[in-house]
Parts: sequence; C-alpha cells; structure tokens
Amino acid sequence: MHLSIDLLQQLVRSESVSGNEAGNVEIYAEFARRHGLEPVVDGRNVWFERRVNDGPAILLNSHIDTVKAGPTWTRDPWDGAIEDGRLHGLGANDAKGSVAAQFAAAVELIAQGWDGNIVVCASCDEETGGEGMERIATTLLPRYDAALIGEPNNFLVARGQRGLIKCWINIPGRRGHASRPWQGDNAIHKVPRVITALEAPHLNVPNHLDKATVQVTMIEGGTQSNVVADHCSLTIDCRTTPAFDNTQMIAHLRAAANQADADLDLRSARFEPVETPADSHLVQAAMQVMGVDEPATFPSVCDLFWVRHVPALVMGPGQPIRSHQADEFILIDEVTEGVENYKSIVRNWWQRVSS
Ligand SMILES: [Zn+2]
Repeated sequence: MHLSIDLLQQLVRSESVSGNEAGNVEIYAEFARRHGLEPVVDGRNVWFERRVNDGPAILLNSHIDTVKAGPTWTRDPWDGAIEDGRLHGLGANDAKGSVAAQFAAAVELIAQGWDGNIVVCASCDEETGGEGMERIATTLLPRYDAALIGEPNNFLVARGQRGLIKCWINIPGRRGHASRPWQGDNAIHKVPRVITALEAPHLNVPNHLDKATVQVTMIEGGTQSNVVADHCSLTIDCRTTPAFDNTQMIAHLRAAANQADADLDLRSARFEPVETPADSHLVQAAMQVMGVDEPATFPSVCDLFWVRHVPALVMGPGQPIRSHQADEFILIDEVTEGVENYKSIVRNWWQRVSS
C-alpha cells in the first residue's frame, strides 16, 4: 500500500471532529518518527521540518479536523474501507487526503535527495477556527516563505479567497394591534427597503476573485399573528473581494441599515480577501506543473487567511462537492496523483527561488 494511503486510512479510522484531533496527531507523529523525522506536537497540531540551509522554505499544511457526521450517512463514517478504488470515511476528502499526500510528498522528496527546505504541518480547528493555524501560523511554526494549503479542490491553482463578513441588521418597530396598524410601526414591513439596498448593482464589481456577494440567510421577527411586529432581525453573509473589500462592504451594509433606521451588528469582519500575486514564484511553479494558463480562486474561507503574509496557494486532491456530505470518500488515484503534484510543485518552486 502506498504510504499516503496507509496514513490516510489510519487518520480516517480515528475520529477527529473539531476539538477531538489528539488521536490523529498521535498517528501522524508516529508515522513521522517511523520515517526518521522529528515531529513537534503543540496542542492538537503536529509538524516537522527539514532544513538544509538558510534559504527559503515552503510550508505544506492541511487540516485533520472534520465536521460532524450527519444523520444521512449510510456507512460507518470511520471504517476507512477501500472499495472500488475509493477510500471511504469522514474527512477522507476534506482534508485528510491532502494531509496524507503532503506527508508522503515530503518523505519522498527527502528520500530522493531533494536539497530544499520544507515544513509540513497537520493542524486542527480549520472548520471552527481557534487553536489551529490561527494560533500557530505566524508564531510557533518554523519560518517559511511560501505555503501550499491542502483543500480538496482537484488541484486548481487557487491563489486567493474572498473575505467574509457575518452580521445582523436589527430593524426596530413599535407594537400595536394588527387591526390598527397606524398605532404601531411594523418592523417587518421595512425589510424590502433594506434588501433592495443590499442588492444594489454596484456590488457586482467583477475581478479575478469572482464578485462580492451579500445574502440574507436568516430572518426572525414579530411575536404573534395579530400584533404589529416591533422588531425584525436579518442574518447576513457577505463575501468581499480586493475590488470591493471589507471596508466598502461595511459602508454598504450601514447604508442599507439606514434605510430602516436599523442597527448594524457586526459579528465577524476580520477575514479580508487574500490574493497571492500571479507572478510570484509559487503561482508560476504551480501553473507550470498543472499545465494551466489562468490561476483560480478558492470559493470559501480556509486556512489560507493565516498564511497571507507569504505567497500562498490552496491546492489539494479530491473534489469540493464531496466535502461535508454523507458517505464522503476520495479516490485512491487522486491521493497518489496528489503526492506527485505536490512533489513537482515543490521542486519547481525551489528551482525558481534558489537559482
Ligand atoms: Zn477543508
């Protein structure tokens, strides 16, 4: 069995819903020791470093935590069975396939006498935020100068991701009997004004990170069928781009809230859009290896954000459609091809930065 598949199967068989990654960390560290590496464990994160000189280093990182198994699973989420060229189990695709491929790529590069510097890290809490890359990326990990974040995007060369704002718009009103609405002030009736303002067309500034978007994802308001609503709250998800960034989005949200004298309650606005320059060595190396002319973007928010101080890409084996789905799996061939892709990109990048 290929090293990457052996490791992947062991990782899948050990439950690691966010917060419970310790078993996976121990498995990973044991594999590292078995290959003559010296793993460092910090909390629910594990990494190893191979440094031959003071030159640049590349980080390979992906996450070992998973979401919870939903009720629609028809298989044991932790059986790790290999059938018909597939390895089944929760997290096989998102993102233990990337973890295993990155580990095997580094081991093979070192065994083949590659002369570069590399840091490889399997981290926790990607799905929830907290004690993973958020905590270790700039403080605890050994120095690195470029980063490949493994997520199942079928090895698209994703050089950026959009920013994220989560907020509420709380619309005020005044109670009254529904038969005499002129004595009250209906908060729900003000919602169309707010949504019309939110959907203003200037939001759709096109650029290479797709476009900025706003979605009202939940609505809550009113108290009783015959009472004028004295409040209505909209839950809103905003995605931002370099052309329409978080500052512009917040101004846009305030203007929409003002349409109803409403209050804007920002729950999270720290995730700015991330973009690695297209002409950086890492993007050029990955595009050459993958044979593509145009880089892509990652559609949601991943640990790329925490390594934005260096040129970084999101790339990994597997398909995004299988993530967070029942009966998750990854193809064996996707993982082993992923090992080769990571090795080739690392070699290509190293040639560019060390020449
Ligand atoms: Zn993921």
